[in-house]
Amino acid sequence: MSRLIRKRLWCAWLVASLLLVAAPGQAQPQPRPTVKQVLVLQSLERGNLPLDRFTGNLRAGLDQRVDKPVNVVEVVVGASGFVRAPDQAVIDYIRSVYAGRPAPDLVMTVGGPAAVFARRNAQQLFPTAPLLLASVDQRYLRGAALGDNESAVTVVNDFPRLVDDILRVLPETRQIFMVIGSGALGNFWRRELEPGFARHAGRLTFVWSDELTLQDIQRRVANLPKNSAIFYLTFGSDVQGGAYADAQVLADLHASANAPIFGALRPFLGHGIVGGTMISIDELSRNTADIATRILNGEPPSSLRPPPQLPGHPVFDWRELQRWDIPESRLPPGSEVRFRGPSLWSEYEAAILVSIGVLLLQSLLIGRLLYERRARHRAESESRHNLTLAADANRRETMSALTASMGHELAQPLSAVRHNADALQRMVANRKATPEETLEILADIQAGAVAAIQIFERHRVMLRGRELQKTQVDLHSVIGDSLALVAHDMRKHKIEVSLDLSQVPCVTDGDPVLLQQVFLNLVRNAIDALTEIPRTTRRITIASVIEATEVEISVCDSGTGLSPDILDTLYQPFVTTKSHGLGIGLTVTHSIVSAHGGAIVAFANPGGGATFTVTLPRATTAGS
Ligand code: ADP
Repeated sequence: MSRLIRKRLWCAWLVASLLLVAAPGQAQPQPRPTVKQVLVLQSLERGNLPLDRFTGNLRAGLDQRVDKPVNVVEVVVGASGFVRAPDQAVIDYIRSVYAGRPAPDLVMTVGGPAAVFARRNAQQLFPTAPLLLASVDQRYLRGAALGDNESAVTVVNDFPRLVDDILRVLPETRQIFMVIGSGALGNFWRRELEPGFARHAGRLTFVWSDELTLQDIQRRVANLPKNSAIFYLTFGSDVQGGAYADAQVLADLHASANAPIFGALRPFLGHGIVGGTMISIDELSRNTADIATRILNGEPPSSLRPPPQLPGHPVFDWRELQRWDIPESRLPPGSEVRFRGPSLWSEYEAAILVSIGVLLLQSLLIGRLLYERRARHRAESESRHNLTLAADANRRETMSALTASMGHELAQPLSAVRHNADALQRMVANRKATPEETLEILADIQAGAVAAIQIFERHRVMLRGRELQKTQVDLHSVIGDSLALVAHDMRKHKIEVSLDLSQVPCVTDGDPVLLQQVFLNLVRNAIDALTEIPRTTRRITIASVIEATEVEISVCDSGTGLSPDILDTLYQPFVTTKSHGLGIGLTVTHSIVSAHGGAIVAFANPGGGATFTVTLPRATTAGS
């Protein structure tokens, strides 16, 4: 860092150097060593981030550039905050370090205080060694021209420009809290900066902290008024003389400050400062290593007068921009943003992929559940619809079956009535009717009429529409009644019926008319299937099996068998293979059986034909 050079020191240095040039014992040049000796006079102890970085880079740069081994001796000549030991003590110390070893090929200074010290005392130490003043603010060299054996790599810190940057990114800023260290260092910088900041008067208030302890500074930065910013220049030591490293001071300020921190030099970036237009120490150390190498290679220092280094392009810390809500659109043109956070994707790629997978899976599961719920509702409403259909169809189907059966059943008694009436009529006409015969024929006519009335009555009962009214139903009787209704068709088509019914009563809780419809449908389908095959093999077997909790009735035929096309849709409405079929019989049958808590399954018989098995809950009170 740079330091103020005072004219009187400069004069003293000149006088001393003149004296020392003439001093005996210093005139004999040492033999040139194969190892290059470099004495580096440091301004501050370790802890100053810019100087530490500069020195580290410089050391590496010398090793890279100089073709001989470089032996660097470092001596701190100015304690932090200019609380220096007397010059003479430092000189004695350096002399003792170099006792018995070759004098330095180059004396370098790092920072302002060391530059001031060197120019004051170099001639007392190594008057013939070239002197390179490095990393020094031009302000320290004001008014003192470089000698022939001197060169300097200077910088022009443009701190007012950094204030401009603050106002650009935070236009509402009204107060800037200046952290510059205390003692001579703080005084120097306050004196140097105040005139430059004058142009902001009216718009900004500058609060100086060179009279405060570090603890006070921390308290103050935690409670700054709204629209404040902090300007960190350097620290060194506080008003009590306590020396602190930049990294620690910045970390503490960053932790407690309620306003953004701006730093004067690039090495502060990454330590909690927002950023701005700052001197690049890396560039400075590179340039310095170049000049030092050239001097070590024999170029006269007077020929090396590099222009002062100006602040580089503005650099900002992305994390601080985020923290203080500073949009990147406000940054000065050409700004570089460092420490940009990794994108959510790059940082959590695996987690994001897993989350998306889980979400997809979850969505699929939810979708599937919704689908199943809808399907269940649809099935339920279809079932209800089919049951209604069943009740209607039951009546219509029953009606047609009953009509057919009634016609057939009535035919016999009515034709008997008719024949008897005809016979009686002829006998009366021919006066052949005896009273006994007349009475006998009239009794037959009466019996026929009664039989017809009974047939009507039975069919009327069956035709009466009813809701699902459960009662204990003997399914063997239901089978008998159903067969009676289709007996005419059976006979007509020469179908052989065999019953294999259990000895135990086959009783369920159900609606007898609907259950009759079930077996009527199954038997009529069997008849239809049988009419398609030769008469000789037409057979229907109805069997019942009684289990502990359920009864099972099978209607097995030797007909055409089930068409493979409709096996999966057998119980759906309007599925039929018959030219005049409605395709509703099995739908109705299935619905009735389901409504009774039972099940129906169809099998293809190994020897041909089909078997439909109906399982229904066994009535609890049924005896066995
Ligand atoms: P439909 O008798 O009006 O066709 P169903 O629902 O009663 O309506 O029967 C649907 C279809 O099931 C029938 O067309 C027939 O193909 C088949 N089917 C039913 N029972 C049998 C059976 N016992 N043998 C062969 N096919 C049958």
